[in-house]
Amino acid sequence: MGPKVVVIGAGVVGAALVDELSARGWTDITIIDQGALPAAGGSSSHAPGLVFQVNSAKVMTKLAGYTVRRLGELDLDGQPCFLPVGSIEVATSPARLAELHRRHGWATSWGLDAQILSPEQTAARHDLLDPTVVLGGLYVPTDGLAKPVRTIEAQLRLARARGVAVLDRHEVTAVRTEGGRVTGVVTDRGELAADIVVCCAGIWGPKVARMAGIELPLTPLAHQLAWSTPLPELAGATTEATRPILRHQGADLYLRERDDRIGVGYYGHDPMPIEAEDIASPADAPVMPSVLEFTPNDYAPGWADAAALIPALRTAGVAEGMNGLFSFTPDNMPLLGESARVRGFWVAEAVWITHAAGAARAVAEWLVDGFCSSFNLHECDLNRFEPHQLSPAYVRAKDCQNYVEVYDALHPLEPMLDPRPMRTSPFYPRQAGLGGYFLEALGWERPHWFEANAGLLDRYPVRRPNDWAAMHWSPIVGAEARATRDGVAMFDMTPLKRLEVTGPGAATFLQWLTTGNVDTAVGRVTYCLLLDADGGIRSDVTVARLGPARFQVGVNGNLDLDWLTRHLPGDGSVGVRDITPETCCVGVWGPRARKVVQSLTTDDLSNDALRYFRCTTTYVGTSPVTALRLSYVGELGYELYTTADCGLALWDALWAAGQPFGIIAAGRGAFNSLRLEKGYRAFGVDMTYEHDPYEAGLGFAVKLDKEDFLGRDALVKRSGTAPVRLLSCLTLSSPAEVVLGKEPVYEGDACVGHVTSGAFGHTIDRAIAYAWLPAELAAPGRRVQVGYFDRRFDAVVSAEPLVDPGMSRLRG
Ligand SMILES: Cc1cc2nc3c(=O)[nH]c(=O)nc-3n(C[C@H](O)[C@H](O)[C@H](O)COP(=O)(O)OP(=O)(O)OC[C@H]3O[C@@H](n4cnc5c(N)ncnc54)[C@H](O)[C@@H]3O)c2cc1C
Repeated sequence: MGPKVVVIGAGVVGAALVDELSARGWTDITIIDQGALPAAGGSSSHAPGLVFQVNSAKVMTKLAGYTVRRLGELDLDGQPCFLPVGSIEVATSPARLAELHRRHGWATSWGLDAQILSPEQTAARHDLLDPTVVLGGLYVPTDGLAKPVRTIEAQLRLARARGVAVLDRHEVTAVRTEGGRVTGVVTDRGELAADIVVCCAGIWGPKVARMAGIELPLTPLAHQLAWSTPLPELAGATTEATRPILRHQGADLYLRERDDRIGVGYYGHDPMPIEAEDIASPADAPVMPSVLEFTPNDYAPGWADAAALIPALRTAGVAEGMNGLFSFTPDNMPLLGESARVRGFWVAEAVWITHAAGAARAVAEWLVDGFCSSFNLHECDLNRFEPHQLSPAYVRAKDCQNYVEVYDALHPLEPMLDPRPMRTSPFYPRQAGLGGYFLEALGWERPHWFEANAGLLDRYPVRRPNDWAAMHWSPIVGAEARATRDGVAMFDMTPLKRLEVTGPGAATFLQWLTTGNVDTAVGRVTYCLLLDADGGIRSDVTVARLGPARFQVGVNGNLDLDWLTRHLPGDGSVGVRDITPETCCVGVWGPRARKVVQSLTTDDLSNDALRYFRCTTTYVGTSPVTALRLSYVGELGYELYTTADCGLALWDALWAAGQPFGIIAAGRGAFNSLRLEKGYRAFGVDMTYEHDPYEAGLGFAVKLDKEDFLGRDALVKRSGTAPVRLLSCLTLSSPAEVVLGKEPVYEGDACVGHVTSGAFGHTIDRAIAYAWLPAELAAPGRRVQVGYFDRRFDAVVSAEPLVDPGMSRLRG
């Protein structure tokens, strides 16, 4: 039976969700839609249903893969819900052909069968393409066409048969809450009580969420789609579609067949955002609420490009067109999960048809089991956003940028351009003065290197890496890395989120939530993990005990704040606060770090007084500082935290005191290289929820012999079995090549894993790539290859860490 659930919205997402939930035995469910079902007037009612599974994000490919499987099983009175016609992404320029190879790499990494086609093979698979303009294609045989309205009806039928109530023509007008919990919904035709409300309202999501007092970072944008007049080339078609669906990203286009016509979708026009509150109601909308009037002038360039690709369109015209609305988010990922502010209010928003069945399964598992075991939802979690990312100005600007860039070939470091800057550390003016090259991460301005360090290149010559690795890069990165290991450097660590956990119950609370023994003496620091109930890694954290009832916890992002807050005991004995904005941090690292910092404090910083993984409070110059003896770059040194008002004084004091020791400011580029040399994993990149600590090489951070902690049971169950995959260190044979992350790893012709992080190790003169590999291949010395665009790089599994395995530099 399960709890009382109300699902708002019966588009592809809501309908799939009630199917999945009821299949798991929850049946006290009502699904409500304001429109007339099955085509209630949302995006699902008019979308052409192209399903392309390739995505740079593994989770998106996996969600799409489930959709393909699920829709393939479904039918409505014998009519299929999925037409498996395959897909081809075409390239008409060398740059796009290269991008197809990168996309082929992602597909291969995520286990999706995909093939690069020659121009002849591309034309042979799709006879309407002009063979003279196509340079190649990416073919995915299992892609195809979803039939969204049919799918909605099929899934609602299944759900109804299991007892789910389906109410169409009911508009939800309010969401009831009490004491921070949802209690029900109000419709124009009466009220319903609920323990759980799931918002699947698509483009109306922000409006419905606001009824519960929640801001959703989602913008409805109009997108153009038109259907051609009948084509003689398709006359007499007896099947809706037989040819592969097409994407022509270089011209912002996608295309599909429908009987004797071609549908052409176009993203090339200026963004057309709209407020959720301004969308017409089903009664007032001329066609349907999600369809706005077609604007042919905006569409004309797209049609011309489509005709250049498909000669048959040159004599055809546009028979019907629309500006159809659907949802964009600041990182192009869906919004899934329970609100942090209103318990019991869940969302499944900004989900394409492509990912709908997968997203529904994910949310159903999460609701019923308390966590999702089929998919790694780290990048989809509703609560991942920083406060500034919820501002209407940011959401609108970023969502519009994402619309424009939806088919662009983007570099992994591609920054947002406007608005900038949004978040700056107190050191920003000094960093700008040193010629910092700033990129943006979670709103923070992060210097990747400093032009002021160009002179170091005389001492440390640096080789230029391959094309993509040389973007957002300078040889100064390498010089900064080497200068850090030889001398001392200041790294701005302010953007790394930190929480203060206080109260009489704080130690017990953190003992329960972490894998480490954090209930230690004041002044100790513990590196450990947060785990899911199934033993998956939620985060890696650094817990510093600053007082009997006060801890500073270095975390990875807003989801950690959410995780800790969710698990707080109800008795008020523990408080959690994000102290990131009011504090700042500079890492002073390198063999001369102690000399610099010691010259600014009267407290003893010798090895005996402040050992590795210890912390203390002191003054550095005039600034009150919490000093943690740690280093993410594997060198002697300290993370020095102070309040934001004292940050500039701290920086200036260190800078002045460091001059005799040759101190430099070093950027993120050097940092990333140094951390990989030392084998330090980055959560969210190298390991996430889908990995356990032993596979990730973090077993040392798990203390199974302490009292019970969240995730322990799952780990104990696994402890007898050896991991089947391992996060492994590869070094590339050629020093000229650097990979970016997400590339496939091959043994012979078989893809055996994928790269997580890549960088050049400047102090070891070798390119490094961390990669997930089957355990039997993870032995040092094993030779593999890394796929990089259309090339393969020889690599070898290497013993890690590559630098200072004896830890003498850190403990020195
Ligand atoms: C032109 C166009 C082409 C597209 N092409 C593709 C494609 O080829 N492939 C692909 O994967 N995706 C495509 N998409 C995107 C896709 O259509 C959407 O992402 C998807 O349909 C969203 O499904 P949904 O269930 O979240 O929302 P919807 O289908 O919009 O459903 C939301 C439902 O909520 C109901 N609702 C809202 N507010 C209330 C309320 N207050 N009370 C009761 N009910 C309410 C609405 O009536 C609606 O039925 C396209 C979108 C457009 C516009």
